[in-house]
Amino acid sequence: MNCSGLGSRFLVKDEEVYPVNAPWLKNFIRDGDGKTYIYPGIRYVNIGGTRQPDDWRLEVDKEDSKGILERCCQLEPSLRPSQVMGEANPRVEREYLHVQGRQLPLVHNYGHGSCGITLSWGTALDAVDLLRQSLFEKPPQARL
Ligand SMILES: Cc1cc2nc3c(=O)[nH]c(=O)nc-3n(C[C@H](O)[C@H](O)[C@H](O)COP(=O)(O)OP(=O)(O)OC[C@H]3O[C@@H](n4cnc5c(N)ncnc54)[C@H](O)[C@@H]3O)c2cc1C
Repeated sequence: MNCSGLGSRFLVKDEEVYPVNAPWLKNFIRDGDGKTYIYPGIRYVNIGGTRQPDDWRLEVDKEDSKGILERCCQLEPSLRPSQVMGEANPRVEREYLHVQGRQLPLVHNYGHGSCGITLSWGTALDAVDLLRQSLFEKPPQARL
């Protein structure tokens, strides 16, 4: 299982894992109802968010992303010139690693951005399902 969060950028070379680059921000900022927030981490900043009842889509919505940035810039205008380095879209999937002649299953579960606590209830179940399947399925055969 790979649940290394932002570490996946380095661990599995996933260049898409990246929040906002605004190293000058040091304080957390949240609006009244918590729908808009800016959470600086050690290296990057997470901004959010959305709350849309009955929205089951799993893809990133460009309009939502624009709206989040706009709302966050209103809260913190210094974010305007900052670079959005990527959008959170959890990666919950399995791949097979070829190690010493064996196919080893690797289940990824990362990329939750600023909603990991909320989303983890579902993504953890999906990740465990993928792991269970790996115990019963034969790994794909190499075609060499
Ligand atoms: C201030 C703040 C408030 C938040 N509030 C909310 C909220 O209200 N609701 C919500 O849903 N979410 C919230 N979040 C987001 C939530 O905390 C994250 O989405 C969640 O913690 C991500 O969990 P994770 O386990 O996927 O990743 P992480 O918590 O980042 O864990 C990844 C772990 O992998 C380890 N790791 C990395 N690379 C390697 C490696 N190469 N080898 C071994 N280990 C490695 C790291 O050290 C780390 O321990 C908030 C975040 C912040 C900062």
